[in-house]
Amino acid sequence: MKVLWNEQIIDESKVKIDLEDRGYQFGDGIYEVIRIYDGCMYMEKEHLDRFWESAQKIRMTLPFTQVELSQRLHRLANEVGIENGRIYFQVTRGVAKPRLHDFPDSAVVQPVLLADIQPVSRPSVKQNLGIRAGFVEDRRWLHCDIKSISLLGNLLALDEAKQKGFEEAVLLREGFVTEASASNLWMVKDGILYTHPDGQLILPGITKMKIRELTKALGIEVKEVAFTKKELLAADECFKTSSVAEIVPIIEIDKQKIGDGMPGKVTKRILKAYIEAINLFVQA
Ligand code: PLP
Repeated sequence: MKVLWNEQIIDESKVKIDLEDRGYQFGDGIYEVIRIYDGCMYMEKEHLDRFWESAQKIRMTLPFTQVELSQRLHRLANEVGIENGRIYFQVTRGVAKPRLHDFPDSAVVQPVLLADIQPVSRPSVKQNLGIRAGFVEDRRWLHCDIKSISLLGNLLALDEAKQKGFEEAVLLREGFVTEASASNLWMVKDGILYTHPDGQLILPGITKMKIRELTKALGIEVKEVAFTKKELLAADECFKTSSVAEIVPIIEIDKQKIGDGMPGKVTKRILKAYIEAINLFVQA
């Protein structure tokens, strides 16, 4: 498969990762994942904006403009030709020798860009049936708003949930629900939609952004306030959102049913609107 490596599109077997790449040694880098529907990148601009925000938060100067990066990603997409999938791209701070914790001089060390495209199908089965999750302590750092390639905290949380037999982790920080291991989390109670406010405790999701827009049009009230484990267990519905998962109902947490233990009607309404928005986008 062809990948993008800095400015070149080459076969993945030709990519050389330097031993002293700071991404490899320190997880010193950022990434994005954009969904591709019918060959088009969904909410590309929003993802690029968040990428630039992540870069600024980690004090990294990107060696290209948004237009240049977009052109490179599109060049790769045309070359690979996958109609439905996702593009993953990351930038590490680059290759700096010797291995030092200090950030290297950005005038000397150039960030390293990599991007690849993989096919992904719509998660219709999960969307129809819902998934079962478990509560896990959110022990990640206090920069969860940065889309950092250092995902160990998220991986540990998911693994803990999986070891207990659940498909997903619902993260709890000091008793409050933050998000899921790789998606934002929502609950519905008495027709009102609740989700954690943006800030350092969660990733400001691009899908979350879209849902704000769709719920406004649907007349569904949204409150971005933190809620507790107890409040979530007493909710009528729960779902998670991400670019790849789109909207997936969570029907049970820690073996306790949420609502009647089936994907809820508000969730289904929002999912329907989400799919319609994708269809309009690909037709445009
Ligand atoms: N929260 C976390 C921790 C994530 O990793 C992700 C996506 O990867 C999200 C939320 C959802 O973000 P988006 O909707 O932009 O895909």
